Amino acid sequence: MGLKISQYNAVMREYEKKRLKSHDIQVSRYEEVCKKIPEFKSLDDSISILSVQYGRRLLNGDERAVSSLKEELSILRSSKQSLLISAGFPEDYLEPVYECKDCKDTGYIGNEKCHCFKRAAIRLLYEQSNMTELPSDADFENFRLDFYSGTYYDKKTGRSARAVMEDTLKTCRQFIDTFGEEFRNLFFFGNVGVGKTYLSICIAREIMEKEFSVLYFSAPQLFNTLAQTAFDKKDIDSRNLSEFIFDCDLLIIDDLGSEYTNAFIASQFFTCVNERLIHRKSTIISTNLSLESLADLYTERSFSRITSSYTLLKIIGDDIRIKKKLEHREDHSCYVEQNES
Ligand SMILES: [Zn+2]
Repeated sequence: MGLKISQYNAVMREYEKKRLKSHDIQVSRYEEVCKKIPEFKSLDDSISILSVQYGRRLLNGDERAVSSLKEELSILRSSKQSLLISAGFPEDYLEPVYECKDCKDTGYIGNEKCHCFKRAAIRLLYEQSNMTELPSDADFENFRLDFYSGTYYDKKTGRSARAVMEDTLKTCRQFIDTFGEEFRNLFFFGNVGVGKTYLSICIAREIMEKEFSVLYFSAPQLFNTLAQTAFDKKDIDSRNLSEFIFDCDLLIIDDLGSEYTNAFIASQFFTCVNERLIHRKSTIISTNLSLESLADLYTERSFSRITSSYTLLKIIGDDIRIKKKLEHREDHSCYVEQNES
């Protein structure tokens, strides 16, 4: 991951804030406990005094005193703990409260970056990349299977839109559940408004929940970033983002074909798809294009990579955006009628 220094520092500052917050919580909890159990404070004071004595004896090599002090300290500590519990506090109430227990909000485990660092870095890059916020209601719980008609049939396969979507949802679930263990790629194609973007967002959300790095791009945004990097080598922001395009765990390219396509873009697209396949990084592509136009617009090479390494999912049905609008209008007219009656 190629964070520039200012980005790295921004991530580290977030960790500092988290640790300060954790410290403040710990202090206020301690005060709360001492107020409720006055003996707790005096026990704690005795422990502090004894600990100093213990340290001194240890330095002097006074082993007999050391072992008796050790015993005394442990008795005091366990009575402190009993006091805490009998006053109704949870036993770990005075332990530090970290957002990430693995790295104790330092961002590092030993010399290695923690998994949460990666996530924080992605969030930062994502925010800095000017990408549209993902619609917050897009998740599988809100997915409306009833928008896919059981009587709308695919001319070629004779399958209904509902049956196709049921299978697609199963494939998406499998993709999410095995992410990180099995290498898969998805290619959604079909008419405008059949829910391809919505599905991609639902998947992106769940993969991010699993702490994998996800980058979401509309095709024009993606190619702009790649072009920016190719033409202005000094543009560090796009260079960082471009590196990420190649090595994030999941890249989503939405609405392929909506960009202005030319030979440069076709070759960038091939590089992107190919590099990610070589490094076994998953990609989801959605498009309104047919498979035939895909081959025409983005070269045979890209086409063959996609058909051989992606699960091709054709989605059929009516335009959901229109269905939603109609539904909204019906709701509204009901509301008016109710008010009038
Ligand atoms: Zn961590």
